[in-house]
Amino acid sequence: MKVKIGDIEVVPLSDGIFRLDGGAMFGVVPKTLWSRVAPGDELNRITMSVTPLLIRTAGLNVLVDAGIGDKLPPKLVDIYAVERGAGLPGSLAALGLGPADIDVVLMTHLHFDHAGGLTTVVDGIVRPVFPSARHLIRRGEWDDAMHPHARSRASYFPENYVPVQKAGLVEFIEDDGEVLPGVSVWRTGGHTAHHQIVRIDSQGQTGLYLADLVPTAAHVPDPWIMGYDLYPMETLAAKQRWLPEAVRGEYVIFFEHDPALAAGVLREEEGRRYVEPLVSRP
Ligand SMILES: [Zn+2]
Repeated sequence: MKVKIGDIEVVPLSDGIFRLDGGAMFGVVPKTLWSRVAPGDELNRITMSVTPLLIRTAGLNVLVDAGIGDKLPPKLVDIYAVERGAGLPGSLAALGLGPADIDVVLMTHLHFDHAGGLTTVVDGIVRPVFPSARHLIRRGEWDDAMHPHARSRASYFPENYVPVQKAGLVEFIEDDGEVLPGVSVWRTGGHTAHHQIVRIDSQGQTGLYLADLVPTAAHVPDPWIMGYDLYPMETLAAKQRWLPEAVRGEYVIFFEHDPALAAGVLREEEGRRYVEPLVSRP
């Protein structure tokens, strides 16, 4: 289902669901608390969605993040319990769009559950999925993804993004600000050093795609921060910057990983934030 931010159309898409360790997803929050809002399976894993976004602005089809894709080795498909269903291609096809109709791909960061869908194997060769798209990637994130360390290596797979650069489709973003009409990026750091969120502004209305700053509605409270985050105090600072502003401005917030909710409006009553549901996960 689509959402209108002013005259910009925003459509949550689906690249299926997967599961991650519940403890890792909630950092310092005890299981007695998180298991009430996100019950784990027999392996302690909680269900996450993969919900990229389509933004239609100035006649352009802009895809924000590309999901897990179809190249994940069977062992990892099992570990992460990936159930892709029709996947992102099916989700786009339901809107009458093929991969060649995507004009711009805008990346929040390059972890495999966001960048895996950028490439696929054709005739034994890994190729870009979106051959006519400019791929906008933050330069610092690119550099980190090309030089992963012991704690980030499990999330960065060069086959997801190097073929896109080799095809000449990558353009680097250097700074915060507008990258397309009504679409701007803002570095939050935290999850990765150069993780960025995407803001949509049109006719006085605002939408925020929070990516891994606030991956699910359960992560709305300030201290509910992922153990995966490389710089959790930056995550905290970014939440304290953006979430009160979202409440004041009645922004529509979009979740990339919530198992049930794709979009909502953040509200606050008596110091307690909550999400008023707007659009279910597709
Ligand atoms: Zn991530």
